Amino acid sequence: MSRKDKTERALPTPSRGYIAGSHTMRVLGRGGYELVSACLWPADCQSCGMPLGAARPALCLDDLGDGRSLYASLHHVTCRDPETGTTSAAVEAAEPCSWVARTLLLPLSGDEVPMMLINPGLEGVIVTRKSGRRPWQVILDPRYIAAGLASPGRGLQLDVPIAGALAAFTDTGDIVVGFPDTTLATVSAATEPRTRSAIRERGGIMLAVTHAVNPRDVATNRDLAPALESGQTRMGLAALASHNDLRTGSWTPPLAQIRRAEVRPTTRGEAAAKRQDFLAGTVFAAAVGVVTPEGPGTEDIQPLFVVYVRDDDTTYLPAPQIRQAFALLDEHGTVEASHRLMVATSWSVLDAPGGSPLAKLKLEFHAPFTGRCEVVLVADQHAQHLHHVAARSMIGITTQQRMTAATARPAATFADALDACVLISVAASPGLQMLIDTYGWQRR
Ligand SMILES: [Zn+2]
Repeated sequence: MSRKDKTERALPTPSRGYIAGSHTMRVLGRGGYELVSACLWPADCQSCGMPLGAARPALCLDDLGDGRSLYASLHHVTCRDPETGTTSAAVEAAEPCSWVARTLLLPLSGDEVPMMLINPGLEGVIVTRKSGRRPWQVILDPRYIAAGLASPGRGLQLDVPIAGALAAFTDTGDIVVGFPDTTLATVSAATEPRTRSAIRERGGIMLAVTHAVNPRDVATNRDLAPALESGQTRMGLAALASHNDLRTGSWTPPLAQIRRAEVRPTTRGEAAAKRQDFLAGTVFAAAVGVVTPEGPGTEDIQPLFVVYVRDDDTTYLPAPQIRQAFALLDEHGTVEASHRLMVATSWSVLDAPGGSPLAKLKLEFHAPFTGRCEVVLVADQHAQHLHHVAARSMIGITTQQRMTAATARPAATFADALDACVLISVAASPGLQMLIDTYGWQRR
């Protein structure tokens, strides 16, 4: 599942509390529970990726394996049992799925500093403590510290950019911030004209990353106080750059963020409702295929997984971004188009009685245009191909007309097939792997 910007959607407030099992309460204590609860917002379930909705979510813990840190996250109670859901097994990474970012102008020592306030994970936080007796603390993902963000108090440099973050304007005036040397996902936010000029004047934008506030709720300077006083907020100036700079180094487009995708049967009534939610506003793939290179020297080239969409309004009404991506492909060719496209992607899956298992490819475009769309596949129809994309892979999106036109001639090459596609990198999907394992879908 992609990390989703939850800027525009109102979320229930966390004050009504979460359902915590007895083990969770024993580990966190009342104080730890209160601390964690104040830094969580119920956006999407961290198991299935679907909205948590109005029911009280389960607060579950995972051990981060360093002997003192835990990952606390929210789930549907049907996806993860609050009583048994807390594990002592170490998890590899903690990746909450929703983020919120907004820009504002912060009056600071007689100046107005353009700032991007980022909550990098609404439904999951890392808590840590120095020893068994010390109180728990919510901390930021250490990758932000590695990128150069620092405590606001200690000699924060207003004019010296940090090494690990860059910002760029999109064609629509939004600002995108990336962390080129880390696996952290990019975030973007709209900007007002005054903020844009301030960013240009300063040559960058001040980042403030925190779990302490939901940026949606910050209207004035005073609303920022809880973040600045929390001790967990980290700040730093991201220099203004071009999109190409955002891509330098080892940085690759943002990765999928499902840390664990549990696939569990639900009851039939629930299943119908879940399917409807899962399918709302999506495009159905017309077909799926794999293009395999042949000939000497091609053994190491990964086959290309291709998702075909219909060349009509059944695709372009719910997903105008796919039409825009095709226009980019037609204008610049596949290599340049994929270079210009900045898109975060991921898979989510739905496996419930009352229908075939479904897989959904989520696409969140950051540049050169913005917007989100989703393409759904009926997973068991494409069972023999899915192993190609359960691991990190490139996928192509195209129409059958485009592919036929590119590959109909007798000497058509693998490159011709690539030329027909919008190429997108997609991270490994535990959800797809779970479907493959559950149903015993083998490579053929
Ligand atoms: Zn769920």
